[in-house]
Amino acid sequence: MIPHVAGLVGCTPRHILHEHTLVPYGTAALPPTESRRFTIDLISGRIPELSNPIGKLGIRWCEACVHFELGKFGESYWHRSHLLPGVCTCHLHGMPLMQWPAPCPITPIKKMVTFWMDQTLPHELSGTTLRFPIAHCLLHQVSQMSHRALNGRRALQNAHPITRDWRQVFDPGFVHFAGCSGSTTRHLPSTTSRILTLISKRHLEKFRTGIQLELSL
Ligand SMILES: [Zn+2]
Repeated sequence: MIPHVAGLVGCTPRHILHEHTLVPYGTAALPPTESRRFTIDLISGRIPELSNPIGKLGIRWCEACVHFELGKFGESYWHRSHLLPGVCTCHLHGMPLMQWPAPCPITPIKKMVTFWMDQTLPHELSGTTLRFPIAHCLLHQVSQMSHRALNGRRALQNAHPITRDWRQVFDPGFVHFAGCSGSTTRHLPSTTSRILTLISKRHLEKFRTGIQLELSL
């Protein structure tokens, strides 16, 4: 599919993967050799062997983004960063996202490439506002780090998942929303678990030292 789409629009398969799919997020925390193999498989039209690489996506959008795009382009469009596991604020505007109607279960690899709602655009939907009983700064860090991972600006390979700290920081409702149904991060895709781990670790370090500042990564 990737080579076919690339041929139709006149760009390279690699460009399609990096700029128009969720693949960069799915591979952000993989060891470099595994990430390369995964990418080459997709570019070659093969389905890579990797369980749960992308996790629980959601049909989400930001009302401020929609308002801006309607004014400028006459229609709104889907932002890849809003769809990612655990993302419930807009990385640009910081406001809670809208969701319709609930997050998808574990997403097949092919959805990393084609996660679009047929012809439907965000401004044509109505949804519910995503809210969790967690500090906004923590939720927004998830959004910002996920956005960076999607855009290849965050190396997550060295953030080893730990199994306890993130449960002290993120409440069970949010953890379920992010895609974890079990008791450890092994139920999450590697990128999601590393992002939650990094944020939790830094938050607990600050808290333990008594620093009452908002965290910024
Ligand atoms: Zn926005």
